[in-house]
Amino acid sequence: MSETDSSPSDVSATDAGTVPVEVPNDETLMEKVVGLCRQRGFVFPSAEIYGGFRSTYDYGPIGVLMLRNVKDAWWRSMVQLRHDVVGLDAAILSPPAIWEASGHLSNFTDPLVDCRECHERFRSDNLDDPTTCPNCGAEDAFTEARQFNLMFKTHAGPVETSGAECYLRPETAQGMFVNFANVLQTSRRKPPFGIAQIGKSFRNEITPGNFVFRTREFEQMEMEYFVPPAEAQRWYEYWCTERFDWYVDLGIPPEKLRLRPHDDDELSHYSSGTSDVEFAFPWGWGELEGIANRGDYDLTQHAEHSGEKLEYFDQASGERYRPYVIEPAAGATRTMMAFLLAAYDEEEVRGERRVVLRLHPRIAPFKVAVLPLSKKPELNGIASEVLSLVQPHWMCDYDETQSIGRRYRRQDELGTPLCVTVDFDSLDDRAVTVRDRDTMAQERVPIDGLIEHLRTKLAL
Ligand code: ATP
Repeated sequence: MSETDSSPSDVSATDAGTVPVEVPNDETLMEKVVGLCRQRGFVFPSAEIYGGFRSTYDYGPIGVLMLRNVKDAWWRSMVQLRHDVVGLDAAILSPPAIWEASGHLSNFTDPLVDCRECHERFRSDNLDDPTTCPNCGAEDAFTEARQFNLMFKTHAGPVETSGAECYLRPETAQGMFVNFANVLQTSRRKPPFGIAQIGKSFRNEITPGNFVFRTREFEQMEMEYFVPPAEAQRWYEYWCTERFDWYVDLGIPPEKLRLRPHDDDELSHYSSGTSDVEFAFPWGWGELEGIANRGDYDLTQHAEHSGEKLEYFDQASGERYRPYVIEPAAGATRTMMAFLLAAYDEEEVRGERRVVLRLHPRIAPFKVAVLPLSKKPELNGIASEVLSLVQPHWMCDYDETQSIGRRYRRQDELGTPLCVTVDFDSLDDRAVTVRDRDTMAQERVPIDGLIEHLRTKLAL
């Protein structure tokens, strides 16, 4: 009997006959994950009914839950569980003064070349062979490299004069630097302390691509940690370890991650150390997050350009100093993609292929799905009762169409850790069947103890 036909309380028909299928090779893995995202409502190409808008994506009903979980997991670890980090939500529209001080107006550029034959555009620093066009193969057909500023410029107000120019922020970090004094005064923190922010950033990338890895509009999760200068190296090492462990704790296998210190020639002029957390993407190692020891560069720049002091005065010691900054800067959308790629799995269950996203429960879009065995009206009341019981605690899906086996498969593809099936026996024994995504084992659990049981299983 295949699981599709099994009664939900038939414990014997669980993982017997499970055969691990070879994990898809790298090229097909990418294709499969992108296909799953489209089919199951994680990520849609933007403006699809108008033919799409290059490298721009919309997060669908499932993706929006998962992306929110990634951001919530970051916020929980960076703000909620700490006493030394506070939050911020700064404006996206920003005046040129900020970007002049930060150096972005003059330095936030990529070298751009065009192929004279096929007119494709490339970042010259990303070309494997700087003389050959990777699109059409033309030799020595590139134009001279031009520096291209990645910031999106727009105008505030009705008149497009130069005085009305403003920018969409290309990173969230500057919001923390320009609010340093405000936060210091109002939050009564003293170094070491941090300011954390999650939000959209915009970069006019020359070569967006690889699904949501590199897009022009994306979400960042950044924290600026202000420390006494003498403690900077210690905190830099601390944050490298903390941030690497965050990905591992949320289920990315350590062998798919590495912490790569920048070579001296890669370092920004103000940085005395930067390490990237990298993930083994199907095309090779790619950055998820950079952790940088930025010294006092940012506060000094803003102090000089704004005329504000931007220092910390320690009343106890009478010491006045400008803190150094350690910055862990991660991408939420890129990290979501890494979680999807790391979680994708296939296996054969009694002759049928099962696709399962083995997501950590904290990241999984739904924690629980309530599935009445049949649409028959007798089950409506008790199924709604169970749904109402679970909903206040966790994001919960409800699905009553198709065979129970198909519905289990659908939840496996969404990464739902636990399914709760209400059947006709439930009317008599006031119990339901809880099915585990990973082992497919099923247990009969009284409705009275259901929340406690789910809480223990989810271990959140
Ligand atoms: P890359 O070298 O990949 O362009 P970066 O070093 O310029 O990235 P940072 O400025 O350090 O990136 O930004 C911090 C994080 O923001 C990155 O580690 C990445 O996760 C995310 N990020 C940056 N640019 C993009 C983008 N265009 N699309 C999606 N995420 C991005």
